[in-house]
Amino acid sequence: MIRFGDKNNLYCSFCGKQKDEIETLIAGPGIYICNECVGMCNTILEDKREREAKKKKRKKKTPTPKEIKIRLDEYVIGQEKAKKVLSVAVHNHYKRIVAEQVQDDDVEIEKSNILLIGPTGSGKTLLAQTLARILHVPFAIADATTLTESGYVGDDVESILFRLIQAAGGDVQKAEKGIIYIDEIDKIARKSQDTASITRDVSGEGVQQGLLKIIEGTIAYVPPHGGRKHPEQQLIPLNTQNILFVCGGTFIGLSDIIQKRLKNRVLGFGRSLTSKDEKEEMLPFVTPDDLLKYGLIPEFVGRLPVVTTLFSLSEQDMVMVLKEPKNALIKQYKKLFAYEDATLEFSDSAITAIAAEACKKTMGARVLRSIIEEIMLDIMFELPSNKKYRNYLITEKMVRGRTQEKVLLKETA
Ligand code: ADP
Repeated sequence: MIRFGDKNNLYCSFCGKQKDEIETLIAGPGIYICNECVGMCNTILEDKREREAKKKKRKKKTPTPKEIKIRLDEYVIGQEKAKKVLSVAVHNHYKRIVAEQVQDDDVEIEKSNILLIGPTGSGKTLLAQTLARILHVPFAIADATTLTESGYVGDDVESILFRLIQAAGGDVQKAEKGIIYIDEIDKIARKSQDTASITRDVSGEGVQQGLLKIIEGTIAYVPPHGGRKHPEQQLIPLNTQNILFVCGGTFIGLSDIIQKRLKNRVLGFGRSLTSKDEKEEMLPFVTPDDLLKYGLIPEFVGRLPVVTTLFSLSEQDMVMVLKEPKNALIKQYKKLFAYEDATLEFSDSAITAIAAEACKKTMGARVLRSIIEEIMLDIMFELPSNKKYRNYLITEKMVRGRTQEKVLLKETA
């Protein structure tokens, strides 16, 4: 009810408080408002603004598959198909989470966990990590081989979730929207019929069963310090429904299973696969049946509906890995030198020699760092104390010979 008073007895038209009960009364045409009501109006407006900004941000937060792919391109060289598949899967995953918050019908979009198959050092972990970076969600890496079935020595599967909570700075709600990369998933395959032992398969099927629950979505109870559960511990409940699981593995031997299947159907696939390239070319033909034959259990395969393959990086790719990504190794070293007020260059032939050396090893791009670290060790040792030489060039000769020669390019004046 609006109350007015005479000049000496004025009221706030909104809360009804008298002039002497409040600090300030602002007059409008035939109406008055007190400082407290102005404050309250401001809070209401501020809340509304914040809500709208959040809504806008949430809308903006689910980038399109194209946008995701462009960002992945900034960090990951090659692997075009995998990047495309991941961009679509991840876009749908996060769209699903947003849609869930405004659920308006009975159509439930199922979670699309992802399986990446490809050689060591081809970018499987990097892809998952980069996705988390793009989407600003917490990210954790786990190694399937360290996990064991409940009751055996090793980590419980819930310890993976503990790492995600840690990555989210202890914020469980944030962790519930994170990404978990489980490496070496092929190592928990059930032993094949011929190699099966009569003892219990501790590390294989049991772990798959354990992982199954958290991957498909459950309320998991996480030990607050990782590791194993203890009966007296207070466990952290965590809903895994919206956590995106990306599993990766090299799946050695899978190409033979695929080839065997194709051999029975398609002429020309009869030859046995000898070279590494030939084996890799088979991988994109993988089907869920092949994965079952490899030793994954049907329920587990069912929970990884998006399967994509990665390829070994070529020498040319390795050159790009060294130079192009946003955090390329060479860029990182240049930055380290800049901190010391020095410059660093690699000649083109040096870069090619490093790439060629990496290709000869079996660790993919992972080996690039150790090669460069080896080359740079002496210089990095001297750099902070050597104020005389400030400009350095890494030459092909240095790479090939790992010579101890001084790599001085120009002497600073
Ligand atoms: P894996 O396939 O074994 O998971 P990673 O993703 O861990 O391989 O790769 C190891 C390192 O090698 C990465 O941190 C990255 O520096 C480099 N790397 C591997 N593949 C690529 C790639 N496709 N593009 C750019 N860098 C890559």
